[in-house]
Amino acid sequence: MPYYFVHTNKPNRKVVIHLSTCSFCNNGNGVQKKIHGDSNSKWYPQDGTGYSTLEEALTVAQKSARQLNAISQCCKVCI
Ligand SMILES: [Zn+2]
Repeated sequence: MPYYFVHTNKPNRKVVIHLSTCSFCNNGNGVQKKIHGDSNSKWYPQDGTGYSTLEEALTVAQKSARQLNAISQCCKVCI
């Protein structure tokens, strides 16, 4: 069963929920290799385990969005 991940992008003010199976998500690793060294782009949960429910991911996404003054949305490709 796929898990949910939340990607935050500070400069773009975007918070996007992905499934672990999404090609953009890649199990929380993203498409960039040095994702953990980039402070502008983060994946949650940071331990790479993923959220088991969309509700859980939504809660995190909305909280992050408030902190970054961003908008949260679901990935149009995978969800
Ligand atoms: Zn996606």
